[in-house]
Amino acid sequence: MLTLRGRAPRRGKALSDLGILRNGALLIRDGVIAAVGTGSKVEALPEAHAAEKLDVGGRVVLPGFVDSHTHLIHAASRAEEYELKIAGASYEEIARKGGGILNSVKKLHAATSEALKKRAADALREFAAYGTTTLEAKSGYGLDIASELKILRLQRELNLEQPIEIVSTFLGAHVLPAEYRSKADGAQQYVALLTDRLIPEVAAEKLAEFCDVFCDRGAFSRKDSKIILEAGKKSGLSPRIHAEQLTRTGATQLAVQMGAASCDHLEQVSAADVRALAESNTIATLLPGCDFHLGLKQYAPARALIDAGAIVAVATDYNPGTSPTLSMPMVLSLACTQLRMTPAEAIAAATVNAAYSLRRDRRVGSLEVGKQADVAVFDVEDYREIPYYFGVNKCWMTLKKGQPIFQKAHTVSGWPARNPL
Ligand SMILES: [Zn+2]
Repeated sequence: MLTLRGRAPRRGKALSDLGILRNGALLIRDGVIAAVGTGSKVEALPEAHAAEKLDVGGRVVLPGFVDSHTHLIHAASRAEEYELKIAGASYEEIARKGGGILNSVKKLHAATSEALKKRAADALREFAAYGTTTLEAKSGYGLDIASELKILRLQRELNLEQPIEIVSTFLGAHVLPAEYRSKADGAQQYVALLTDRLIPEVAAEKLAEFCDVFCDRGAFSRKDSKIILEAGKKSGLSPRIHAEQLTRTGATQLAVQMGAASCDHLEQVSAADVRALAESNTIATLLPGCDFHLGLKQYAPARALIDAGAIVAVATDYNPGTSPTLSMPMVLSLACTQLRMTPAEAIAAATVNAAYSLRRDRRVGSLEVGKQADVAVFDVEDYREIPYYFGVNKCWMTLKKGQPIFQKAHTVSGWPARNPL
């Protein structure tokens, strides 16, 4: 059992401390962990006598993953752009041709609420199948008042109707919508729409906890990002930011200055950016799935960030354009092979530190008394096998607040002994 007990967030060497307990057991009461210890100790507790016993057969148990960066609600894949990328077109070239985020915006506008909700609900079941129990979800494929509010309202409905906790982020500043691009002061007009109308509305309806901006070439400038994030902050939405993904804009320094909860991507950070993050409480959220899918060579400098003392988290960035995966185990594999993190560091980055970035570290991210019984069970003998088996789902069971929400089963009732033909 990897308890991840102890102080959160984790920096430097502490990131490797998984709090391993051999033959561990949990006593769960009303969805909350009432005791953690060795099996014999927990079973000897008076309260344990009446408890229902769930034997996971010596498998590896860890806190459910906290996926702290997803674009959950979108209408469809962008598989048509995948071949263009393979043929060598860059992300920005595809965006200029009407692909990219605006392609997803067009698809979202054409979709019904029911279809959007069903696609997201199906995805949430799949997240659970890979051991994820809490996730952050961003709006950002609506880019007008009605559609952005629709996405956030769907997230709220989903939060009430299924077991995975969804933490909502408003990302109206994903890219400049098509209708503002032809105008000379289009960016200014759209920023005003966000700060004067959308952000106050999102805050009044309590539709999000965070406000995010995609600060990059082809998206929003550092100056506009600051205006938007300040408006969010004034309305009670904590800042998060997409920073230094395609180019270095100085978004990381802005994030640190503003006390952002999280600064995400970071492929293009400078040494000064790394130092600034190390001296701050802003989490460096790394999204290696994105670089992997785009076939990019430059990943974020995870080793430099960890060694400098920054708080590092990893997430899927689940989205149809640059990271169509909802598998945290696959992200752990990429964190190990591409970011050169150890399996222990990657697991801590995907649990305790990610929970901290969502301001949920008192409730989730570790297996400790008083925390929610959010648990992932992997069918492996050694936790290092979770990233080691890449692209293979070894998740065996997932519990949310003590209730099973996923259990691995064979799709046919019996595995035929021989070819039935
Ligand atoms: Zn993103």
